[in-house]
Amino acid sequence: DRLIAAQPQDGEVRVDHAIRPRRLTDYIGQAGVREQLDIFITAARGRDESLDHTLVFGPPGLGKTTLANIIATEMEVDIKSTSGPVLERAGDLAAMLTNLQPGDVLFIDEIHRLSPVVEEVLYPAMEDFQLDIVIGEGPAARSIKLDLPRFTLVGATTRAGLLTSPLRDRFGIVQRLEFYSIEELTEIVARSARLLGVEADRDGATEIARRARGTPRIANRLLRRVRDFAEVRGDGRLDAEIADRALNMLHVDRHGLDHMDRRLLLAMIEKFDGGPVGVDSLAAAISEERDTIEDVIEPYLIQQGFMMRTARGRVVTRSAYLHFGLAADDSVPQ
Ligand code: ADP
Repeated sequence: DRLIAAQPQDGEVRVDHAIRPRRLTDYIGQAGVREQLDIFITAARGRDESLDHTLVFGPPGLGKTTLANIIATEMEVDIKSTSGPVLERAGDLAAMLTNLQPGDVLFIDEIHRLSPVVEEVLYPAMEDFQLDIVIGEGPAARSIKLDLPRFTLVGATTRAGLLTSPLRDRFGIVQRLEFYSIEELTEIVARSARLLGVEADRDGATEIARRARGTPRIANRLLRRVRDFAEVRGDGRLDAEIADRALNMLHVDRHGLDHMDRRLLLAMIEKFDGGPVGVDSLAAAISEERDTIEDVIEPYLIQQGFMMRTARGRVVTRSAYLHFGLAADDSVPQ
């Protein structure tokens, strides 16, 4: 497993339980999202209504699931969680919908992966709080309509563009999460260290933050690994030097790049002369799935300015050449 993977790893959800923010005020960064949600939640509560359906999009590990749980806590309702790929048949979604209490949050992670038949059931549920479903097959088939309690659907997706437009249009609130700044991640690491009982100084927290790829999940994971190192190779205290030594040992470089990132960038430079190269050719060249490149590797490299997506394909930038100590000719973009 990649140490800097943004997806949760085995057992991590359980470990994260202690440090996951519960309230909107504990949610660090994403100031715009926090301010808007605070207003919408306060207003809905004032009117004694459920919150409008909310779509949260952004790369993995930035806090979409956390936000869905916070919405439920702040609205003082229960949350039922599922995900697009788990809801295979219309009946799976119907079972979840009919189990909701008034006001509840239904959280659907990876909502872009809902099958079309399940999505069809979701439309009237979202719009009119009606369940409209056909049960049985052939001559015995009949259609049933049920009233559902008002609920709030919170959908999460890595990219808003993956959603069909009828689905997207049914969300009253759409929030986009951004990668976190080093300052924000420093605060997240410091908070997690406190909750885990680790003595960490500011510079130590910053050293981890710098290499955490703008992603709280990665920051927390690196913190746990650096803590191990500090306990075994040091006196348990976490400072910049210990963090630097631990992360070097783990091959996470100063920009938070690991072997996969370096492999992608080097393939573009060495095999495709810096690009432009199509994502499928790139996937073949480094033996990765196209989706892995688009969802997992590339967003951070683009955001950090190591590569760009153009109409003609992917292109590496001057920063990527510099990162490897390579010379770039004048045709390489900044
Ligand atoms: P996603 O659903 O977007 O993949 P999660 O909500 O599971 O991400 O977040 C991953 C972990 O990162 C959480 O367990 C939580 O501990 C931490 N986290 C996420 N966002 C924040 C935040 N704004 N402040 C503090 N910790 C956060």
